[in-house]
Formats: sequence, structure tokens, C-alpha cells
Amino acid sequence: MLEVNDLHVSYGAVNAVRGVSMSASAGRITLVLGSNGAGKTTSLRAIHGLLKARSGSVKLDGKEILGRSAHRQVRQGVVMVPEGRRIFPSLTVEENLRMGAYTVSRPDAQRTVAGIYEKFPILSERRSMPGGLLSGGEQQMLAFGRAMMSQPKVVLLDEPSMGLAPGMVDRVMSRVREMADTGIAVLMVEQNADAALAVADDVVLVQRGEVVWTGTAENAQSDTALVHAFLGEA
Ligand code: ATP
Repeated sequence: MLEVNDLHVSYGAVNAVRGVSMSASAGRITLVLGSNGAGKTTSLRAIHGLLKARSGSVKLDGKEILGRSAHRQVRQGVVMVPEGRRIFPSLTVEENLRMGAYTVSRPDAQRTVAGIYEKFPILSERRSMPGGLLSGGEQQMLAFGRAMMSQPKVVLLDEPSMGLAPGMVDRVMSRVREMADTGIAVLMVEQNADAALAVADDVVLVQRGEVVWTGTAENAQSDTALVHAFLGEA
């Protein structure tokens, strides 16, 4: 569904991403692992048109989308949940959700909000509360809910577990699994390898701007040398 090929991104003279290829398929979670500064966030931002790539290709259902703005990509079905969630703290939960629905018609948005409240009862309970008053885990649910408002085919997730209490991390990962199980293709960057491997299908390991390993989550978990190499660097 989403195919990234030979992506290169530079910050001036720094070649942060050097020929990265990865893909995400409907109903599956592709997990991107790598130590700090490996180029994971840079890759996601370039894929989503938030940074200019030097070269490469990003295809959505076979059609080139690299260079298209994030705004256009959302209309085409690719949405990103950024690191730190970026919810609007002074807007209510419901207003935050509606901000994600600018690509859909009003009746559709109404139906989608109702569907999200069904999936995330905590958001329904808190619907009139300013987003900034939610706990970290609740804010992450809100960020997921907001992303779902545009009825996406592909969701790009940047470190959804960041800053969350350990107990909350597994709950957030279960939500990511549920998201994929509805048929969405998920491309997720995570530092929390153990929790993320437990729900992922495919793994891409990135080091110094390059992909050094790809395989199934099962193989990644049983390949202790790989895990040690990764954890040793992390
Ligand atoms: P993290 O988990 O810490 O976000 P990451 O794998 O997502 O790590 P990136 O943030 O993509 O890594 O950074 C990749 C490289 O690009 C690093 O060497 C980083 O120092 C560099 N870099 C990131 N942002 C900028 C920037 N705005 N200007 C210059 N260099 C940058």
C-alpha cells in the first residue's frame, strides 16, 4: 500500500537518511527501530511531505506521492501522528477530534466522532474537557482518534509510547494493533522495542541513516544478536 524506495534526506551537509526503503501494508504494523539520531523521524517527516527529500520515491497504491504536501496526503489517505502528540491543549477533546476531519463531510465527521467515542469511551467521557487536561495516555488516544477522523488508509506513528507510564505503554500498543486490524497500514517508529515488537508484524532496523535489517517481528525477537546490536546502540 505504501512503498518507500531509496529515500535520501539531508540537513545541509548532514546526510541524515541515506537510501532508506520500507513499506507498509493493509492490516499490518511495520515497526521502525533504531537508536537516537538514526534518522527515523526524519524519514517519517520526509515521507509525509513535512521535509524535502533529496531523492527517492514514496508510492501510495502505486502512485508517486513524494513531494506532495501533508495536507494533500491526508486527503489521499495518509495521516501522521507526530512525536509528542501535538494535540491542541485549549480546545476540547471533541474540538480536537473535529480538527482531524477537515477532509470529510460534516455528516461523515459526525458518524466518525460517534465511532471514535465507541472505541475510546474515555474520550467520550472527557469530550468537553480541554485536551491539555488529559493524562499522557489519554492524549495519545486523542491523537489516534484525531488521526482516524480522516478515515486514513495509512497511519504514520512517531514514538507513540514516548513519555508514558510503563503500564500505559502496552495499552497504547494494543490500540495500535486494533488500528491495524481494521485494515489500516501502520508505519510506526518506536524506541520502546519490547512493547512495540509484541504487536508488530514487520521490522525495519535503521542505523546511521541506513536500513541494516528487515524481517518479521517474530524473527527479530528470536534473533538475539540483532536485538543486542540494537540495544547496545540504543
Ligand atoms: P530520535 O529518536 O532521537 O528522534 P531519529 O532516529 O528519529 O532519532 P532523526 O531525528 O531523524 O533521528 O535525526 C537523524 C539525524 O539528523 C541526526 O544525526 C540528527 O542530529 C540530524 N538532525 C535531525 N534534525 C535536524 C535538523 N533540524 N538540523 C540538522 N540536523 C538534524
